[in-house]
Amino acid sequence: MAAAKINGRTVAYQSTAHEVQQKRPNRTNYGYRIRTAMSMKHSSDDTSISRPPRPTSTPSPTLRVALKTDIIVIGAGQAGLSSAYHLKKRGLAPERGFVVLDRSPQPGGAWQFRWPSLKLSTVNRIHDLPGMRFSEAVDTDAKEVEASVAVPQYFAAYEKAFGLPVYRPVEVMVVCNRGERLRIETDRGNFSARGVINATGTWETAYIPEYPGADRFRGRQLHTKDYRTAEEFAGKHVIVVGGGISAIQLLDEVSRVTTTTWVTRRPPEFREGPFTEDRGRAAVAMVEDRVRRGLPPNSVVSVTGLPVTPAVEAMLARGVLNRLPMFSEILEDGVRWPDGTVVRADVILWCTGFRSSLDHLAPLMLREPGGGITMTGRLATQIAKDPRVHLVGYGPSASTIGANRAGAAAANELMTILGEEKR
Ligand code: FAD
Repeated sequence: MAAAKINGRTVAYQSTAHEVQQKRPNRTNYGYRIRTAMSMKHSSDDTSISRPPRPTSTPSPTLRVALKTDIIVIGAGQAGLSSAYHLKKRGLAPERGFVVLDRSPQPGGAWQFRWPSLKLSTVNRIHDLPGMRFSEAVDTDAKEVEASVAVPQYFAAYEKAFGLPVYRPVEVMVVCNRGERLRIETDRGNFSARGVINATGTWETAYIPEYPGADRFRGRQLHTKDYRTAEEFAGKHVIVVGGGISAIQLLDEVSRVTTTTWVTRRPPEFREGPFTEDRGRAAVAMVEDRVRRGLPPNSVVSVTGLPVTPAVEAMLARGVLNRLPMFSEILEDGVRWPDGTVVRADVILWCTGFRSSLDHLAPLMLREPGGGITMTGRLATQIAKDPRVHLVGYGPSASTIGANRAGAAAANELMTILGEEKR
């Protein structure tokens, strides 16, 4: 890990996992890699965009050069890595042909930020990335290993094994249309590409619904993404909001150390029996149908239902699954329902999900009036309004298995249309 002053603030940075593991910061730091890539391909022929600043220097507004490449992959989670793997497999050269930009400090996508009690034994299932098994990088028998440790380890090994050109931390601020090309503006300078695979997940866009009185609550409000451990709530009354798998898992943990109230918007739908492949396909088809019609994707749990695990059965027995409907108002020290019922609370834990992190695509004006984005292509990864842009890990591909398949489809389709344009 190295550090640089950028715009007056100190930024720790590293380049690819490969380089991190080799610990050769002088030869392989981010600036070096970018400069190498820039010198590979017409570094000064696009005067409309400015040079990606080197992390060791102050960005110069007078430099008007961008790193040109064919395809930029934004995000290095499951979706971005799968896409990058397939781009490379189809013959696109790393850096010259594609680069991956990721805002997180290390490999692992959003998994690196997940709470410590989320173990390999408690995740639903993390599917292998294409070409390398999870067990090749991680001891999968050690079920009590934290997902936030194991997945980054796997992704780091993966990036290294396939020589994927991941630059981090590089945050994409906006993507703009520049005629035949797209301009990708980042906190480290600008890039120019002919196509974009956007794989930015949802973690950055936590969703908390608005309720009257939220500002006056004197206790603590936090979202799933801020949760670390149940112990910090000992002795407090916690209201857990949300009907998804994360809500159930955190309710389970918190209710073991203190008193809780569980509220959800709709009655939770528990699913009997195993989540078979047929059920999985049906769930994906429902989401795919929506995004092909330009509607926003619905929540995962609305199509999969909640599994009745041994933990859920134990929660039922402990009486912590006595769900209440949503309250209508937040008070200084609790919440109130329309019939006047009040529950005092010290903490409101919002397990209310995430939205796709797509704000940086706003200049492309991809959204329909209803707020969705009309998707097309074999696995609905291609944006109908701008076929040069694919969304992987969005809608029907918002799972580790879905992201794998969608990465292949997006890479193939994008390379095909870009290849055709060349002729
Ligand atoms: P992410 O892993 O979120 O990766 C996105 C990457 O994009 C991040 O590295 C981020 O830094 C980067 N990024 C974001 N914005 C920018 C930007 N502007 N510029 C540059 N980089 C950016 N799915 C399963 O299949 N099995 C499970 O067991 C499972 N458990 C889950 C548990 C929880 C608590 C949650 C929230 C989700 C779970 N999921 C699970 C869903 C699963 O995490 C995702 O479908 C999948 O891992 C997401 O991969 P991704 O690549 O789309 O996104």
